[in-house]
Amino acid sequence: MTPADCSPDPPPQDAFARARAAMVASQIASRGVKDARVLEAMRTVPRHEFVPLSVRDDAYVDSPLPIGHGQTISQPYIVALMTELARPAPGDRVLEVGTGSGYQAAVLSRLVDRVFSVELVEPLAQSAAASLRRLGYDNVVVRNGDGYLGWPDEAPFDIIMVTAAPEEVPPALVAQLARGGRLVVPVGRVWDVQDLQLIEKDAAGKTTTRSVIPVRFVPLVKKRDSSQ
Ligand code: SAH
Repeated sequence: MTPADCSPDPPPQDAFARARAAMVASQIASRGVKDARVLEAMRTVPRHEFVPLSVRDDAYVDSPLPIGHGQTISQPYIVALMTELARPAPGDRVLEVGTGSGYQAAVLSRLVDRVFSVELVEPLAQSAAASLRRLGYDNVVVRNGDGYLGWPDEAPFDIIMVTAAPEEVPPALVAQLARGGRLVVPVGRVWDVQDLQLIEKDAAGKTTTRSVIPVRFVPLVKKRDSSQ
């Protein structure tokens, strides 16, 4: 037996890093995501730290995963695609609607200046904030609240990313988008296929919308009291 045959199994952290590299190559770059900074963020952020222990071994598979409270963390390719569509730049301020596990916020935080993320379900907001703090993503702020209304106190945003599907684009989010800003949002009927849209606001404040691909997201819940 050579010494190499006796070496212990690699530590799990290395196994996760290898799984992440394979995920980027086989699920993300292979499907056409090209932005080198986005690919690097996807290779770096430990997705397995954001999913429940019960599904940790599946953290790098090509699908969404349950995160509790009937919610899901998106498929890695969709996270990468939405991030690339948003064209994140180092000085950008970002609003995410639908914090969920905190994973998408962590990916964005590697690419921009600050991320403000709002989550309707209080226990998810709390656990995402705890994960982000524990892992050192200290340019992310998480708030429990209704993201249909955006985050007026911190507006305007260079990027707004909505990771739950409204039936129509929430007007408050368009209003809170900076000139030159990008809004990425899945729009469509509840529990149906939705249309992933990229909405851009030009220097004069005019918006244009492009349909990107069909997607399936959990609904953006519209609170009864959202007028308050
Ligand atoms: N971006 C997340 C996945 C989000 S799943 C991640 O990386 O893990 C969609 C999330 O949107 C769910 O957690 C759901 O509770 C939340 N959500 C639904 N309606 C909302 C609303 N009106 N405001 C804020 N969050 C909402």
